[in-house]
Amino acid sequence: MGGYTNGRFPLSMMVKLGDQHYLPAGTAARWRWVQRAAWEKYRVWLIITPGWNGYRPYDIQVEYRKDLGIWAAVPGYSSHGLIYKGRLCAAIDVANWAVLGWARFKALCRLAGFTVDFVSPQELWHIGDFNDIWTPPSWAAPTGTTTPAEPEEEDEDMLKPTVHARIDGRTEGEWMLGHPDIGTDLPVFTGTVTDKNSRKDGKAVVFRGFMVTTDKATYIAWARIYAKGAGNITSSTDRAGYLAIQRELSRISGELAGATSINLS
Ligand SMILES: [Zn+2]
Repeated sequence: MGGYTNGRFPLSMMVKLGDQHYLPAGTAARWRWVQRAAWEKYRVWLIITPGWNGYRPYDIQVEYRKDLGIWAAVPGYSSHGLIYKGRLCAAIDVANWAVLGWARFKALCRLAGFTVDFVSPQELWHIGDFNDIWTPPSWAAPTGTTTPAEPEEEDEDMLKPTVHARIDGRTEGEWMLGHPDIGTDLPVFTGTVTDKNSRKDGKAVVFRGFMVTTDKATYIAWARIYAKGAGNITSSTDRAGYLAIQRELSRISGELAGATSINLS
């Protein structure tokens, strides 16, 4: 591994993509390809989670293990440290993968050669490059000016993803991630029907403007990425309140796209 151990590779060997975001040139090129493809196909600009969530130097691994416990690897063993189970691997945490939906995110990552869903506990946002991490593949070579501009920032607050819990009795029975770009292929949800206005996507069910899950690991991922940690979510409400939020999220999604509300009942 060039004489370097996990997390001890100098930053000068890597491409700087942003503040605290460093990747080997090959991985950086593959990641940029994923960003461009997601933008061109779905108008979603994927970003690396703020912090050392590309390459992660050893001293930062020590810090993250203290802060995150089992959600960060034992220092010296992180796939963010460029060596994972004896192989070169460059990992990236993707902040807003869920806006794309798991199926689309996974498909684009695999097309670019990334491995998905390979660590435990499960981290759907965590992708790894097990290819030649130092050399950009010819098909992903950066062409200089093709990186698209970031999406317009108007309505920024409204467009931030939100996370909501439904309380059944005294426990949380279901969780929801809301964003206008979710499920834009579906008609606006009116609350009068369910199955006809939704589709399954991994452990989530996607509706227009939001997606729901009863899988706690998926919810924890949403809450950690969009709402600063499990338990600290946007709202926690009873069934009626939860349904009202769903209708509103769906209405906003439809309005932003100029869609009309379709009542299938
Ligand atoms: Zn990670």
